[in-house]
Amino acid sequence: MDNEQAPVVIIGIGSIEQHGPHLPLGMDSLAARYFIHEIASKSNSVCVHPCWPGYSPHHMKFRGTITFSEDTLLNVILDTISSLADHGIKRFMLTNHHGGNAEIYKLAMRMAKRYYNVMVSSPTGPSGTELAKKQADISKRHWDVHSGINETAAALVMFPELVEMYRLEGWKPTLDLGTELNKFFDVDRDDYEIVSQVRGACTPPVNIDFTKDGIYGTGDPNLADAGEYAKRLKERVDFMVEFIRVWKTIPIPPAFLD
Ligand SMILES: [Zn+2]
Repeated sequence: MDNEQAPVVIIGIGSIEQHGPHLPLGMDSLAARYFIHEIASKSNSVCVHPCWPGYSPHHMKFRGTITFSEDTLLNVILDTISSLADHGIKRFMLTNHHGGNAEIYKLAMRMAKRYYNVMVSSPTGPSGTELAKKQADISKRHWDVHSGINETAAALVMFPELVEMYRLEGWKPTLDLGTELNKFFDVDRDDYEIVSQVRGACTPPVNIDFTKDGIYGTGDPNLADAGEYAKRLKERVDFMVEFIRVWKTIPIPPAFLD
């Protein structure tokens, strides 16, 4: 705190889980680590990546996956925040790089705010730029959430030496929820809002039951565009840096003072 009056600590969490045949097991944690370092170095902040695994029981049928229990992940996040709160940190920014952690890290944020008297935020964005809107559409159209076009591009930018694209030669989607539910991926249907949620309700809890190679979605990861991702990454980092700048202009509200 010697060179920063209002320090922000950025906490990144990810996972160790199978990421298709071509991406590293540490994909989400490596990406989290890369992302928080970028933001911290541009905003005079401190970043910490307190654990490598996340909450990934649904990936356990694929070898190499390491999952924490719900309690372990929750407590790792809470103990990290609580320790730094003891040192006087009042502003925490969390960033999550694995969908399976979503509910747990949101609960951790709520609990930390309540029990440690600290501000905790997990900003998202930007959502309105051309690049972001295009990505949102691809993601929805192809269910591009795990090991697909987006994550492959991310890995090619952040740690290309760990990507094995040759394993994708002749790739065809293995995603299969069964004939009826497969039709519910069609975003152009009038009833998409309903059928997509019915599809969600019927998706098996273990992912090997609907994707044999661990890649979700129908988008060919061979189409990953590293140049485009690099631009999108910069846009996101800039957004987070600006969020921190604006946040620091607001004095700590009285409710959070000890
Ligand atoms: Zn991932």
